[in-house]
Formats: sequence, structure tokens, C-alpha cells
Amino acid sequence: MSSIFTKIINREIPSDIVYEQEDIIVIKDMNPKAKIHLLIIPKKEIETLDDIKQEDRNIISEMFYVATKVAKDLAITWAYQLHFNVWKQWWQEVMHLHLHLLSDK
Ligand code: 5GP
Repeated sequence: MSSIFTKIINREIPSDIVYEQEDIIVIKDMNPKAKIHLLIIPKKEIETLDDIKQEDRNIISEMFYVATKVAKDLAITWAYQLHFNVWKQWWQEVMHLHLHLLSDK
């Protein structure tokens, strides 16, 4: 079964897309915890950070690169937080890897 984020990637459900490239999409979080709250999501379905394999190392690095690119585009450099939630039973609600980018700038 595909994740909610795969449904967003496939345009099966709507979302506010901020940026997209071949392997990554960036959307606005539907329940923002800061003035700016984005989710940087690989199109490949990887459940959690704990599930990354050798061949996924490039996508993790690309996610961070995209985060810095989006921060520059939004003029929030030096004023943002990045985090992954990794705890299946509690912190991580959506089981499709994503990097949170938050800023109150
Ligand atoms: P997690 O707790 O898994 O790290 O965070 C998942 C995030 O995804 C939450 O901040 C939640 O608000 C957001 N989210 C969950 N479902 C959707 C959705 O359908 N659309 C959007 N834009 N964000 C979602």
C-alpha cells in the first residue's frame, strides 16, 4: 500500500508543493508547527531513517542539499531547523521518510 506522501507525489491527493525534482518533492506541512514548516520527501518509498540502505546514501545527502536550496529560495538561511523523527510507535506519524524544515523567520 502506498503512503500518503506517495499519493501526494502521484497527485492522487492535493498538497501545497513548494519544489520538485526527479527524486524529491518539498511540500508545506498541513499542520505547521512553525511559520514555515516544510517536508522534504524522497519519491522512493523508504519508511524511516533506520531503513536506509547503502544505495540510499545519495538521496539522504540530496535531501539536505534541497533543504539548503529551499532555505535560500525562501531567504531563511541561518534561521531554520531540520529534523527527522524516527520512532515508529510515537514520533513518526507518516511512515515514508521525510525531513522537516521549520523556521519562524
Ligand atoms: P512525522 O511525525 O511523521 O515526522 O511528521 C509527519 C508530518 O506530516 C506531520 O507534521 C503532519 O502534519 C504532516 N502530514 C501528515 N499528512 C499530511 C498530508 O496529507 N499532507 C501534508 N501536507 N502534510 C501531512
